[in-house]
Amino acid sequence: MKKVVKIIVGVFLGLIILLGIALGGFIYKVKNGFPVSYETEAPQITFPAHKPAILLFSKTTGFRHGASIEASKPVIKALAEKNNWFVYETEEGGVFNPAQLARFSTVIFNNSTGEVINDEQKRALEQYVENGGSLMGIHGAGDDSHHWDWYEQNLLGAKFSHHPINPQFQAAEILLDPQKDSLFSRLPQKWSNADEWYVFFENPRKKGFNIIYTINGETINPSGNILFMTSKNFGMGKDHPVAWYKQMGKGKTFYTSMGHNETAWQNENFVKLIEAGLQWTCQ
Ligand SMILES: [Zn+2]
Repeated sequence: MKKVVKIIVGVFLGLIILLGIALGGFIYKVKNGFPVSYETEAPQITFPAHKPAILLFSKTTGFRHGASIEASKPVIKALAEKNNWFVYETEEGGVFNPAQLARFSTVIFNNSTGEVINDEQKRALEQYVENGGSLMGIHGAGDDSHHWDWYEQNLLGAKFSHHPINPQFQAAEILLDPQKDSLFSRLPQKWSNADEWYVFFENPRKKGFNIIYTINGETINPSGNILFMTSKNFGMGKDHPVAWYKQMGKGKTFYTSMGHNETAWQNENFVKLIEAGLQWTCQ
């Protein structure tokens, strides 16, 4: 009998340890991304003449929003067809070299998470934007797994804190800010959707970013408390931006924190926002 008890306790402890390792591994992956491997070979790309080119980059080494990434591809291709854009889609970082980046009007970090390109490739992307290129980020592109100051300051203008846990997806009204640019001013004034609302430590409005859409942060439960993350029980307050852009000298950046689920890509208002963003960056 004693032996049986020992075996049961042993199996139980073993399961707890395995669970701990799995949870630790998951948290590490979400915060840092792994495994880290970088592609450095430049791909062969045939750019059609007279079409703005979009680089749709969906590589992840951190959390993978697989369903949203897959759902985005046909939607962005359809937008490209409609607007006469060329889309080059990849999950390999070899394209992040100065000569090839210069051919693109816009680079999209499509729910890209973790450290997905090496230092030299990061510098190439920074110079590309500084020389007049455009960088767009969707949802996971704004989490804190990238560990890249330039990216955080110029694309996000804010540091990611967490997302709500209880519940993870909450319905909210998405409200258009007064817009200076006609591409954005004709977007729907108000629509509703459920998403995973990212909470940032700062408001990008205060960093000079142009806010497109906000939610009223007081209408959601922003708590992200899980086990040891007890300091995350706060929100951004009432003024909670969810889409914004900035002219960076000659370059442009655009980010939306919406787009966790594949359902975002079936929402015509979300698609209109992405289209307006791309029309702005590809013009
Ligand atoms: Zn997400």
